[in-house]
Formats: sequence, structure tokens, C-alpha cells
Amino acid sequence: MVTSAYIHIPFCRRRCFYCDFAITVVGEKRRGDTSGTMARYVETLLREIAATPVYDENHDEKPLNTVFFGGGTPSLLSVSQVELILSVIAHRFGLAPNAEITMEMDPATFDLEHLQGYQSAGVNRVSLGVQAFRDELLAAAGRFHQRQDIFQAVDRLRQVGIENFSLDLISGLPHQTMYDWKEALTEAIALQPKHISIYDLIVEPQTAFSRHYTPGQSPLPSDRTTADMYRVAQSVLSTSGYEHYEICNYAKPGYASRHNLTYWRCQPNYGFGMGATSYLHHQRIDRPRTQKSYQAWVDDFVQNGGQTADPVIEPAEQVIETIMMGLRLPSGIDLSGVYQIYGERGLQALGKAIAPHLQNRWLILESTASEDSDSKRSSSNEPRLKPTDRIRLSDPEGFLMSNVVITDAFNALDLAVSR
Ligand code: SF4
Repeated sequence: MVTSAYIHIPFCRRRCFYCDFAITVVGEKRRGDTSGTMARYVETLLREIAATPVYDENHDEKPLNTVFFGGGTPSLLSVSQVELILSVIAHRFGLAPNAEITMEMDPATFDLEHLQGYQSAGVNRVSLGVQAFRDELLAAAGRFHQRQDIFQAVDRLRQVGIENFSLDLISGLPHQTMYDWKEALTEAIALQPKHISIYDLIVEPQTAFSRHYTPGQSPLPSDRTTADMYRVAQSVLSTSGYEHYEICNYAKPGYASRHNLTYWRCQPNYGFGMGATSYLHHQRIDRPRTQKSYQAWVDDFVQNGGQTADPVIEPAEQVIETIMMGLRLPSGIDLSGVYQIYGERGLQALGKAIAPHLQNRWLILESTASEDSDSKRSSSNEPRLKPTDRIRLSDPEGFLMSNVVITDAFNALDLAVSR
């Protein structure tokens, strides 16, 4: 069953200095109804949606539960473009009456009238790209907005009655101190969002930041400081009533992103637009990341009746993906999938690989076995894993070290099949 659709709107007023996303810069005055490039893009996007086969035959029974406009800056679209996209989506796939319809918005890109229009079109959740509260940090990151725009944007959300909104924050920005970070968390909480996302800055190749900064070196905070920023966020947000429901995401009870949970649970989803990825029939379909190549891709897609030649993801790859995504959630993963695909040998190889992480409490093993835990350990302290066991990362230390744990798990399973 497919319950989610992602729509990529790849336009920004300018490129932030740390960003390597698939976007097209449209300048400061342009909106969807004043830019030929954006109008052409929406027309192509609608052709793609209309040509996409409906995954569930009886979509009256299984309508979409979530739609997510991501970017880029979707709030550069005109109201009529959003209305049109949502009506084509609803007509093609069916949209549940209580569907979560999220739009990523940047402060300083929408006024009250636009917001009311988006809301009338169906948007009922907003993800606001705040990133930082200090003007110097926002300028150093190349953001378009300023501090005062954040408060104005939240005021507007409240005026139209959109209480279900999220704020994005970035830690590890150049010149950002622990004091700034604590202040940003405090200011974010004071705005009473239902959801807060915390991202640690990654200096990606080919970005302006990569030309000026070296990770871990001043003026970027040290690795130790950014790890402490993560710990502080976990502590401050948890004590303020936010549940840490995913490595980077916190929500008030009942306000976790329904859309993003489908990714972390590896559920199938539609993806539309330049650079978007869909996951259907165990086939992952990546769209090209430039306007011209995306237009050509859609032409072919329409001509081929909505079929692509992308390979089906092998079961072993699916298990690795389940581990990578599932460990992002505090509930972790059960090991039945590992057992089904890799057998007893894979399970024990995994046990050996994760033994050090269990000892230092980055990982927690939850066993349903009746025997006591001592009998499940060999003399070398390696656990004898069972298909019914669960593993999960601890919060915050395990989440902080997730890359190390996942890489070790991946290598162990890779080795188990190659022997
Ligand atoms: S607004 Fe977001 S997508 Fe656009 S350039 Fe900045 S970081 Fe990238």
C-alpha cells in the first residue's frame, strides 16, 4: 500500500553557502507565477504525476495519507500552482480527508495572503527553515532571511491557525558557539512549535563552505563541540516535552511527521520532480538533478507509459536499508529480516560486529528469549542473536555514533555473504 507522495520544488531565491541540493536559483523577485522556468517545471511535474501508474488499483480504499512539498523553497510557488498540483495528485491517487499535507517554507518568502491560499488548497502542516536566530550566523550561512522574518512567519502561521508547524535548526555553523546554540534552542521552544528538526552541518564538496572551511577546524566548531550540541539539544528538548522520535527529529506527542516516518520504516512512496526518488515495487527510481535532464526524463517516462528500467532492489540490499533506516528510530529493528536473508551465519556475524557497541552501551539488545542474558553470551562476550531479538541505538550516545554502528553492521553482513 502506498500512502505517501513527495513533490520536489527545486527553486530558491539564492543558494545557501552549505547547500548541495538539486535546485535552480531564480533570483529575489521571482515566484511561480512570474517565472517562466518555474511555470515550465510545474507543467512537466504535472505530466509526470499524470503518467505515473497507480500502485494500488482500488485507490478509493487506499488514498494517500501524506503529501510533502519539499525543496528548494516550495513557498515560491503561487497559490494556483499548489492548488493545481494537489488537485492532480488527489485525482490520480486519492487523498484521505485527514491527509497530512506539509509544505517546506522559508521565512521571508510568503505573506499572509499566500499562506491563506496554500491553506485553502489543503496545506495543513508547515516546516519552516529557521536554521539560526542570530543575523550574523544567518548571513554567514548565506540564508535569505533575517531573525525578524522568523517571528513574522510564525505570527502568520498562528494568524491562519496552522499550529502544526516545525522549525529546522542547524548546529555546527561557522562562528556558532555553545552559547548561541543554547539560545537558539530556547528561542525555538518559546515559539511553541509542535516539531523541531536538528541538523548537524555537513561541509559538502562543491559548496561555498567547502572552499572556505575544513570540518572540525575554526571557525567551524570542533567535533567535540558539535557532539555536545547534539547532547544539549536532546536534553533541553526532552525536558521541554518533545519526544526524540528520530535521530534528528523531536515532536510533541502525536506530532511526529507522518510523512517522514514512511521513509524510516522503508514503506513504499511516490516521489515526483527533479532529483526526487520514489520507492515502488522494490524499485528505487532516482530522477535527474538538473532541469534539462529532468524534462528529458519525463518525456521518456510519458512515452514509455510510466515505466522505467531501474533495477529491483535485492533482498540483501533491502535488509541493509531496513537496518540503516530503522536504527534512526528509538524503537530500532527486529532481526527477523537479517535471519531470513543471511541465516544463522549472518546473525552471528552481526552479533560479533556489534558486541563492542553493546558493551559501551551505544546499542541496546532487547531479547524475547526465556533464558537469562548470561547464557546468551559466549566467553568472548559476543551475543548469540536470535531472529526475535531487537536492537536499538541509545539516546543520545548511540544516535551520535550511528554511522560507526551501521557501518560495522553493514560490513559484517557483507562479509557473511561473500564467504
Ligand atoms: S533554502 Fe534550502 S534548498 Fe534552498 S539553497 Fe538554502 S539550503 Fe538549499
